[in-house]
Amino acid sequence: MSPVPTFARRPQFNSTLRWLLPVVLVLLFLTILIWLPWQAREMESNERQEQLIADTLWVEQTIRFQLGRDEESLRALGADIVNGHLSQNQLRERMAQLLSNGHELLRVQWIDPQGRMLIGSDDGAPLSEASRTAADIARRTHNALYAQPEAQNPDPHAPPAAVLMDYHAPLYRGGAYLGNLVATYQVSALLEEMVPWWFAQENQISLTDRDDRVLARRAAAGPGHGVYTHKRALDLPGVNITLVTDSVKSAPRLLPNLLVGSVIVLSLGLLWSLLALWGHITRRLAAEGALRQQMSFRTAMENSLVTGLRARDLEGRVTYVNPAFCQMVGYPAEELIGKLPPMPYWAPEAMAEYQHRFAAVLAGTVTPQFETIFQRSDGTRVPVLIFEAPLVDKDGRQTGWMGSILDISDRKRIEELNRQQQEKLQTSARLATMGEIASMLAHELNQPLAAISSYTTGALNVLGRAEASGAPVDGAMLKPALEQASAQAQRAGQIIRSVHAFVKKREPLREEVTLPALLDGIRALIELQARRFYVIIHTELAPDLPPLRIDRMMIEQVLLNLTRNAIEAMAHIPPQRRVLTLRAAYDAAAGQVSVAVIDQGHGIPQDVAERLFSPFFSTKAEGMGMGLNICRTAIEFHGGALTHRANPDGGTIFTFTLPAVPVATLTGET
Ligand code: ADP
Repeated sequence: MSPVPTFARRPQFNSTLRWLLPVVLVLLFLTILIWLPWQAREMESNERQEQLIADTLWVEQTIRFQLGRDEESLRALGADIVNGHLSQNQLRERMAQLLSNGHELLRVQWIDPQGRMLIGSDDGAPLSEASRTAADIARRTHNALYAQPEAQNPDPHAPPAAVLMDYHAPLYRGGAYLGNLVATYQVSALLEEMVPWWFAQENQISLTDRDDRVLARRAAAGPGHGVYTHKRALDLPGVNITLVTDSVKSAPRLLPNLLVGSVIVLSLGLLWSLLALWGHITRRLAAEGALRQQMSFRTAMENSLVTGLRARDLEGRVTYVNPAFCQMVGYPAEELIGKLPPMPYWAPEAMAEYQHRFAAVLAGTVTPQFETIFQRSDGTRVPVLIFEAPLVDKDGRQTGWMGSILDISDRKRIEELNRQQQEKLQTSARLATMGEIASMLAHELNQPLAAISSYTTGALNVLGRAEASGAPVDGAMLKPALEQASAQAQRAGQIIRSVHAFVKKREPLREEVTLPALLDGIRALIELQARRFYVIIHTELAPDLPPLRIDRMMIEQVLLNLTRNAIEAMAHIPPQRRVLTLRAAYDAAAGQVSVAVIDQGHGIPQDVAERLFSPFFSTKAEGMGMGLNICRTAIEFHGGALTHRANPDGGTIFTFTLPAVPVATLTGET
């Protein structure tokens, strides 16, 4: 038994049967087509032959009958001669009558036992050798018989001019032999007189002797073809004469008529078209196979995709969705395909946005890439990133839109986590910075407080003195002291306020701020740091600086970090070089404002530069190593960049850029 299971063989068997059956049927059809005309020809041929035989028999019977009648007349005449009833004249008359009744007869005569003519219908002629032999036999046998006719023509196939055949009837009166009554036939006249014209029309008729020599021939309307012939012996006493008929008809042709021809042409056409069809079907099957394979490949690919796919026609009707998309929105494909907006997965809060975008789609324009939210069937929201591209058919006509949709929930979550982490870091960094400056703050606040204290003491002294002397209080003396005290108190308050605002943790908030205003807000803190190391601050701001849309606190933090680093880098260089320059310029072409923090400190060696922005990298004993990292994040958050390079005058230049019109952010801000 074969180890191959039946189900594995069946398709092959089926395909073999599929092409074998039509082939066998077509072959059978062709065989019958070829056999049919051949069979028809055979039948026609047989029919013609049978017809010829029947006609030949009929002719033979006619000749036999006429000869029989002649024989009968001669016998009657012979009887009258033997009885002696007739005078010579009467005998001649009877002979003439015989001739007129049968045109095949040339003459009738009575010859004596020596063969000489006694009485004849004409002058007579000497008997031929064969005739004499026949006369002798007749005399001996007492029976009438025919003499063998002789062809005079040496050519055995050409008909002789005139072949004569004698019929001898012996005359006996009692035992006395009275000679013979001889009738001479012209053999050709037998054919002329006795064969009907219609038969002669279609058949060449010959009479031949025993050696097949032609004795007489009656030609037909056309030449005989030797195809349908028949021979029939005339069966006359004493002589061998055969009646030969040869039909003018030739063998029936295989393609006798237009019908058979056209049937064959049509079948050849049929065969050709079958072959063409077969070839076409084979090619089609191959193409279908390839297509099926491609389809299953495509389906497998679509099913394995994590990206959702959605096709829409030009009216916005959904024409296709893949399993990933269905999973993403929580609706089965049947509920989505054929749907026109509003879609079941549109979130009510974003409906206006969808409608706006859909109107753009109908107008023939799509945003190639955008973020939005979908509402799942269970009501939960899923943030998605959508890429749209036109769907073009094989003629290059656009038939709709194809969108690939990415579920960006995870990305959003990670972004949010990052953001929170960054904020925490910023907060702790702020706290660390605050820790460092807390002591300086105490020192700085000491100064205004001491000043306030001394101004108020002075004022109190003035008041005390006036009270003791009884003189009125001199307001002009008190006023400057109180004004100074108030100014110092305000300065202390400003220091405390800026620190408070700096430490407070809060959500990013964009507002329109000009750079000078920003610097003014933190100038006191920067100066506080600078004063510690006797650093001079230079500010060079371009006059055309546009306002920025920024999170003020973040950028303040950046500036504070950069200025603190710059100041610290100049802690151990000669005091005259301790200059901190803040330079801001507007690059209208690039649409951005650049701010440079320039120091003339110790500079940044190569190995430090490589790790500068790494978190917790610091070369300082009590440094946290988070400052630059936070700065860069904050700048990039605003769509700018933070870079550094060596200062040609010694030290370092840190530069950050900020877009003059900030772009929409990619974070969760709405
Ligand atoms: P921290 O100041 O706490 O050390 P930062 O991230 O602000 O952390 O700075 C990392 C390191 O980069 C510093 O320790 C210092 O070595 C170097 N650095 C930063 N700014 C400057 C500067 N303007 N000049 C020289 N070195 C600097």
